[in-house]
Amino acid sequence: MLLYEGKAKQVYSTEKENEYIVYFKDDATAFNGEKKAQISSKGILNNKISTIMFEMLHEKQIKTHFIKSLSERKMLVKKVEILPLEVIVRNITAGSFCKRVGIEEGIVLDEPIFEICYKNDDYGDPMLNDDHAVAMKLANRDELQFLRNETLKINDLMKEFFLKMNLKLVDFKLEFGKDSKGNIILADEISPDTCRLWDVDTNEKLDKDRFRRNLGDLVAGYEEVLARMNNK
Ligand code: UDP
Repeated sequence: MLLYEGKAKQVYSTEKENEYIVYFKDDATAFNGEKKAQISSKGILNNKISTIMFEMLHEKQIKTHFIKSLSERKMLVKKVEILPLEVIVRNITAGSFCKRVGIEEGIVLDEPIFEICYKNDDYGDPMLNDDHAVAMKLANRDELQFLRNETLKINDLMKEFFLKMNLKLVDFKLEFGKDSKGNIILADEISPDTCRLWDVDTNEKLDKDRFRRNLGDLVAGYEEVLARMNNK
């Protein structure tokens, strides 16, 4: 049964109470849904790339919702209640950070920046500080501390992983959920829809900025990321 439909994915229940199926669609959106397109095979690529990422993180003892890949577009996951927060890490300046404060794109940061946003399209996913999140009862202090520590750990693992394939991890977005025992685990997806990835030598953008900014064929970029993952 379809439980939820988002911009890029659908979530279905299964005969098992604690398992869901995530279906990766071909829809691409940007600028809070203002720019839209159907990009043939994007969903397949994101499912494959997310699978590799969740498997890599699992090997490094990070708890995730991933159980297994079921088909080209379907992933079996643990049932979680998604926290209404988008967690962002920046290693290199880009995107909304540049727009918001007028800083140039491409500056390597001395330390990663950790941000949280309220997952709410009507308000354009506004950035929050911890006090806002606590006041809005989106998470408590311990949970926020856990999210920060876990996300920075994931950042180190992902940065190292992508560097092996000559890719810079510029920034990315994660979502976490609570499992049936109340544990917070990594959920959603990790793909070039949710990470900015630049070639180390040329700075070529291989992520969703190709769609956002008309920088070239999106599928070719995602295929390049997947090919490098498979060849490493
Ligand atoms: N991001 C995402 N979903 C969102 C917002 C951001 O996956 O709703 C990802 C985005 O792809 C980038 C990082 O989070 O890798 C930081 O995005 P930013 O805040 O710069 O916003 P954007 O430029 O996407 O508006």
